[in-house]
This record gives sequence, C-alpha cells and structure tokens, in this order.
Amino acid sequence: MELTNAYLLGIQKKVEEKNPAEAEFHQAAKEVLMSLQPVVEKDPKYMESGVIERLVEPERQIMFRVPWVDDSGKIQVNRGFRVQFNSAIGPYKGGLRFHPTVNLGVIKFLGFEQIFKNSLTTLPMGGGKGGSDFDPKGKSEGEIMRFCQSFMTELYRHIGPDTDVPAGDINVGGREIGYLFGQYKRITNTFAGVLTGKGLTFGGSLARTEATGYGLCYFTENMLNANGKSFKGQTVVISGSGNVAIYAHQKATELGAKVVAMCDSNGYIYDKNGVDLAAIKQIKEVERKRIKEYLTYHPDAEYHEGCKGIWTIPCDIALPSATQNEIDEESAKALAANGCYCVSEGSNMSSTPGAIEVYFANKMLYGPAKAANAGGVAVSGLEMSQNSERLSWSFEKVDKKLQAIMKDIFENCDEKSKMYGMPGNYMAGANIAGFLKVADAMIAQGN
Ligand code: NDP
Repeated sequence: MELTNAYLLGIQKKVEEKNPAEAEFHQAAKEVLMSLQPVVEKDPKYMESGVIERLVEPERQIMFRVPWVDDSGKIQVNRGFRVQFNSAIGPYKGGLRFHPTVNLGVIKFLGFEQIFKNSLTTLPMGGGKGGSDFDPKGKSEGEIMRFCQSFMTELYRHIGPDTDVPAGDINVGGREIGYLFGQYKRITNTFAGVLTGKGLTFGGSLARTEATGYGLCYFTENMLNANGKSFKGQTVVISGSGNVAIYAHQKATELGAKVVAMCDSNGYIYDKNGVDLAAIKQIKEVERKRIKEYLTYHPDAEYHEGCKGIWTIPCDIALPSATQNEIDEESAKALAANGCYCVSEGSNMSSTPGAIEVYFANKMLYGPAKAANAGGVAVSGLEMSQNSERLSWSFEKVDKKLQAIMKDIFENCDEKSKMYGMPGNYMAGANIAGFLKVADAMIAQGN
C-alpha cells in the first residue's frame, strides 16, 4: 500500500516538518494516513472538518525533570514524558515506559497508536502515553522506588481518574505501579483509580496481568478461525520474555500450540521440545535475570546472542512481543521462507513498513498491534469500572469480557476491511474502525 492521496500526503509532510527527528511518530502516522485514503475518498466530511489535521497534533505534551538519589548518595537526573494525545472519547489512557531508548518521538508514536487501540476496545478511553529514559537494569529496589516517587511528584498534577489514567508498559509492572500509586496517594491524600495495573489488595483487577498476552491469543485465534485455521498443533515463536510474552505463551499453549522460542534484549533461546514457561517465569519474574539462564534448567536447549535470529526459526505463527520495529523486511522474508503464515503483534508497531509489505506480498495473516494487543488496555478499562463501583470482579468474569472484546475487535477490523474494499487487510480495518469513532466524536465536540 502507498500513500498517494494528495490531501493526506500534505498532512504527512506537515507531521514530518513540525515534528523533526521523531521517526517512530512519522512511521505510525503514515500507516494510519495510508489506511484512511478510502475513508476520505468516500466521505468528504473527514477532509472538510480538518479532523485529521487535529488528530495528528497531541492535545498536550509534558516533559519534565526527574531527579533522584542513587544508592551512593549521588543525584541522578532523567527526563519524564506524558503525551496527552486525544480525549475525544474518554480520559487519556495509556502506559508508562521506562527504557533508555525513550524519547519524545517514541512516546508520541505510542500515544498516537493508543488513540485508535482504545477506540477499538469499545470502552470510553482517550489516548495517551508516557515514560522516562530511566534504565531500571541493575538498579536496586530502593533506587527504583525513589525514581518512581520522584517521577510521580511531577506527574501527579497532570493526571486524575477523570483526566488521565496511566498504566504499565516496558519495565513498568506491578512493582513500579505500586510505588507510583503510593506517591500519588500521599501527595493528593486521595485513594483514587488514577493508575491501572495496581496490586490486587489496592484496587487492581484480576486478569490485568494476563490481559495483553491472553488478549493477543484471543484476537489471533479469531483471525485464524476466520481463515480456516487455529492455534491447535501449530509451532509458535514469541519474542520477548516480559509481561506480554509470558502470558501469550501461556494462552497459546492452552489453545494447543507449541512455543519453541523466546528472547530478551541480549539473545534468544530455542527449545524444540517447547519452552518451559515455569522456568521462564522463575528467571524473569522472580530472579529478574537474563534468559540465558534457561540453559541451567534445560541444558539441551540452544541460546544465541542477539535477538534478530529468533525470526529465522521455522514456525507457523509469530507473536512479536518485545519492542517496536523488531521485525524488519529481512526478518519478515525469513519468516515467510520458513512457512510462517501468521504474524500477530503483541508489541506496539512490531513490524517495519518493509516487513508489512512482505506479509501482504506472501498473503500472510497479519494482526496489527493496535487491534491484537488491545486486551491490556481493555482490562485496564475494566479495572477503572471496578474502581468506580468500588467492587472487584472474578477472574472468570474479567476473562470472559476480555474474550468478548477481542472477538468484537477482530470482527470490527474484518468488517471495515471489507467495507472499504481491502478484505483481509486487518491493519487498514483496525485503523479505519478506530478512527471513525474518534473522528465523529471530535467533529461533534468541535475540537
Ligand atoms: P516488559 O518490560 O515486561 O518486557 C519486555 C520484553 O521485551 C523483555 O523481555 C525485554 O528484554 C524485551 N525487550 C525490550 N526492549 C527490547 C529491545 N530493544 N530489543 C529486544 N528485546 C527488548 O514489557 P511488556 O511485556 O509489558 O511490553 C512488551 C511490548 O508489548 C511493548 O512493545 C509494549 O509497548 C507492548 N504492550 C504492552 C502492554 C502491557 O499491558 N504490558 C499492552 C500493550 C502493548 P530485557 O528484559 O532484556 O529488557
């Protein structure tokens, strides 16, 4: 697919001029604009109202200093971000990422994607994202706590249960959300549903931890079923070994697949007998060590340095669940050459534009992140509902709702792809479905 519509090309040009050196944001915007070509051609209202020009401009971008004291007593400084991208259909909602690669362009791409993803969930949530270039690797428990407290000491004034409700993302899990929540509570003297992914003893939702990985598999199973296939008996490669990857492994296995490879940012393991999830959980969740340690549990498995090689392992289904642009054109070609027929994204914007071209050229099934990984934010939305009614739902109730939401998301993507003349292009279907609801709300609200 090419971006050829002159009006949308003009918007893309402006995005690139006004936001220089933000390559990931340019990439995310272009993918959506490409998908919207048939929409503006069919209904001029979306051009005449200027809604797309408005949509690519965040409502608010906040950058702040995060000073914290390390264990040796020295003051360290990081940069914090919160981009409040769009509140047309609900309070800003989206995770916080702590990683040395975080910069404004990365947060903007994530916040932009979040608008459409949250719209797809059918829940009333706007789009936002935040984080810091803080690197938690090698930091002590005390350093992590002090960093989180300092981060919230600035962030608290910008968020609130009806304004902006952050959650986790890379390197922000239950531990970090706990420290952030504690600091918000202390500063504001309120016990509020201002963050999701909280601990179960203070307002967290059952199944939130599992939600993104499970949701990814529910979406993928719906996509497979619609194309005469299923997870049953399939060989699966999952990148990453964090929150999304671990629970994607668990659900894919429950659905009858065999997961043969996983990775971290240092390297990947290949276990032809099926990756032992209990060992991965022990290494990554309990010991917080490198995936290489897997060999101490299973000496017959293979470990390879570097992540890219994971895509050369033969598989039927690939579930990238580590980070953006982790599958490039070359890796996509390797997957296709080895018989992989389905790529479904757990990580945000897992695939480069070149990789996506390869999927379409090879008629592979492609589940785009903003649809496939929407389960996490969907259950965050359900956590907000539970907080509002001061009740906790059972795991089964939340999981059932998650399954229904992921089915709806797939059906909506499928329907829009057909309606706009691109059957089977779930990327375009997701972008269009997510866009229509937000755009109509923005037009109605006049801002
Ligand atoms: P975690 O921090 O729990 O895990 C991230 C995993 O990816 C780790 O194994 C990490 O390895 C690996 N990783 C991170 N950066 C890189 C990199 N540059 N190269 C290779 N591997 C890398 O994060 P999550 O599982 O929560 O998030 C994974 C992806 O899923 C992200 O793209 C996130 O935006 C997306 N996502 C997460 C949601 C959630 O609910 N958590 C919701 C929707 C999307 P290492 O330990 O070595 O750093």
